[in-house]
Amino acid sequence: AEAGTRPAFDNAYARLPERLFARLAPTPVKAPRLLRLNEALAERLGLDPAWLRSEAGIAMLAGNHLPPGAEPIAQAYAGHQFGHFVPSLGDGRAILLGEVVTPAGDRRDIQLKGSGPTPFSRRGDGRAALGPVLREYLVGEAMAAFGIPTTRALAAVATGEYVFREDALPGAVLTRIAASHIRVGTFQYFAARRDADALRALLDHAIARHDPAAAEAANPALAFLAGVVARQAALVARWMLVGFIHGVMNTDNCTISGETIDYGPCAFMDEYDAGTVFSSIDHQGRYAYGNQPGIAHWNLARLAECLLPLISAREEEALEQARAALGGFAPAFGAAWREGLLAKIGLAREEDGDEALILDLFERMAANRADFTLTFRRLADAAEGRAEGVRALFAEPAAFDAWAEGWQARAARDGRDPAERAAAMRAVNPAVIPRNHLVEEALAAAVEREDLAPFEALLAEVSRPFAERPAGDRFTLPPREEERVRATFC
Ligand code: AMP
Ligand code: MG
Ligand code: MG
Repeated sequence: AEAGTRPAFDNAYARLPERLFARLAPTPVKAPRLLRLNEALAERLGLDPAWLRSEAGIAMLAGNHLPPGAEPIAQAYAGHQFGHFVPSLGDGRAILLGEVVTPAGDRRDIQLKGSGPTPFSRRGDGRAALGPVLREYLVGEAMAAFGIPTTRALAAVATGEYVFREDALPGAVLTRIAASHIRVGTFQYFAARRDADALRALLDHAIARHDPAAAEAANPALAFLAGVVARQAALVARWMLVGFIHGVMNTDNCTISGETIDYGPCAFMDEYDAGTVFSSIDHQGRYAYGNQPGIAHWNLARLAECLLPLISAREEEALEQARAALGGFAPAFGAAWREGLLAKIGLAREEDGDEALILDLFERMAANRADFTLTFRRLADAAEGRAEGVRALFAEPAAFDAWAEGWQARAARDGRDPAERAAAMRAVNPAVIPRNHLVEEALAAAVEREDLAPFEALLAEVSRPFAERPAGDRFTLPPREEERVRATFC
């Protein structure tokens, strides 16, 4: 049965040279069941939730039915994985169904993840397990609620099939929405093959989609590079400001849109420690919290290498210009990071000495194992004269008191009254993040007991992260020792 209006696709990527992708349809699944539809996102995309909930809609979200106008493809890409170059990765378990133009005029990819094998699957089965699908849904929605650029889940569908990892696990398909799925690794795929025509076509497409102004610049490739550098610098600063650890910052997971992509072993830290790593596959700590800006810069240098021949035919000149564009990363990151931190501690205008004040706070948080999220959230109460909550997060509360004296003196010079300051702080410091123990609990209930209630409850909470909660609300609290999650898995 079909109700409502079908999506209308317009597939610019499928009009690019054929070697940028493989044309194939998703592999149908046995018994599709809609687990979750993101109605608010559907509306923003101009998709009809009633149609998506219809039999035809669910069949599309499962990969069992292609609506007219869809041109399904698996995109080719390469990537540096943990520093090692892999020339052929590509969509091994994802199919881009097509692109839609939203009522606001933005173009968005509609991609199924877990939709079956493709020519890029290598040894993989092309499928996704329910747990990781729900994690991606939850964390993506949390990021969106923080206002951080991100791909998002439109739907999660159970397949009625098992996927075989260490155990047999229920399978699912995630519908992922993205400004595009073009990655640093997409450029690397063609650069590694010295395919100048494909690189040029990809660049023109990426510019049209993400940097239309660059098309008018004296050097479009260079202007594009500068744009990606600026977006990634801003993105990673936003991650750092909420304690997010991506976990797999390989170049194939680094978008040129500046959206967060690929929520695998990602995690938010509880107590502050710049060395925090959760990912079970990150043995060297390459993608530790504090390494993320440096890694993003390294990934962008890989993009710059790909673009060199498009920047200038004169090698020296291309190198010099690319270096200058990459040089924009540190100041852009630094500015976004400092501005964000200033807001987190409730200061409206920057003064000399603020950086030292912030560094001092981080040192005290690290030494006292203070919870990252709650320290900043409860600092708003301290701004209004109620410091007990934040003090209690420090192993030695006196360490906080010593810092707070200087902070209060500094805040007094900033002009706003305490209530105004506290309100501004509560608007940037979340009360709720998708804490690992809550995420694990929600996923376990769904996978082990087919109980989606904890997932729904957590999703509702992370979707309103800045709202004030009653004291002791479990969604705000760090894990008890026995609840602590030490490692995350893809
Ligand atoms: P990721 O680590 O998620 O960024 O994935 C890296 C590469 O492995 C990408 O090319 C994915 O498409 C591929 N991949 C991951 N899981 C699977 C799977 N189950 N089947 C096929 N390919 C996969
Ligand atoms: Mg990936
Ligand atoms: Mg992944």
